Amino acid sequence: MRVVFLGPPGAGKGTQAARLTSKRGIPHISTGEILRTAIQRQTPTGLEAQGYMDKGEFVPFEIVLRLVRDRLQEADAAEGWLLDGFPRNLEQGSAFEQLLAEMGQSLDHAIFFDVADEEVVRRLGGRRVCETCGDTFHLEFSPPPVEGTCGKGDCRIIQRSDDSEEAIRNRLRVYSEETDPLVEHYRSSGSLQTIDASGAIEGIESEVDRICGSGP
Ligand code: AMP
Repeated sequence: MRVVFLGPPGAGKGTQAARLTSKRGIPHISTGEILRTAIQRQTPTGLEAQGYMDKGEFVPFEIVLRLVRDRLQEADAAEGWLLDGFPRNLEQGSAFEQLLAEMGQSLDHAIFFDVADEEVVRRLGGRRVCETCGDTFHLEFSPPPVEGTCGKGDCRIIQRSDDSEEAIRNRLRVYSEETDPLVEHYRSSGSLQTIDASGAIEGIESEVDRICGSGP
């Protein structure tokens, strides 16, 4: 199964992607996650990407395309994958179509997570992540078991630098300028399936399963 998740930051794509990919045994390919790991490791790509990410801006196209191209060619992606965070605008969308054609692959589902801006600000403003294991918490909805740590050992809970209110507003602005047209492109080509992503995690998961089918 080859699937793309589209939607604003904070729509819950990462949470649902983790659930779906563990049920299906396919890799969850999140461009944001790949870039954050590159930053943590201080690789040349990470160093180049950091300034853009801190401000909530797009990392340059060539960098992201190279990451996705390389990742899709890894062995574990041969039978399927879930892309989360790519493509993010029309330019990336057409490069992605070309890449799929080159690889002789096609997309099974493009799923759009629909949620209002104010809900995004509420969700992301309270989001905290464990710097070491990547587990995600929310100050209001799912606080960490022990204040400041995820409880798994020598871990530290932090706020992502792009989850400050200013960066969130900027990410939403960039999203509506850049990604809305791509969503409309998928919608008008008849290949978009929309999920109301404002509700509870389990309800959204059932919707994703309904669209993707419940098989392996
Ligand atoms: P995310 O985890 O998907 O919210 O992505 C976090 C940040 O990574 C974004 O705000 C961008 O700075 C960068 N990023 C992730 N995916 C892309 C992409 N497809 N194109 C450009 N920048 C990206």
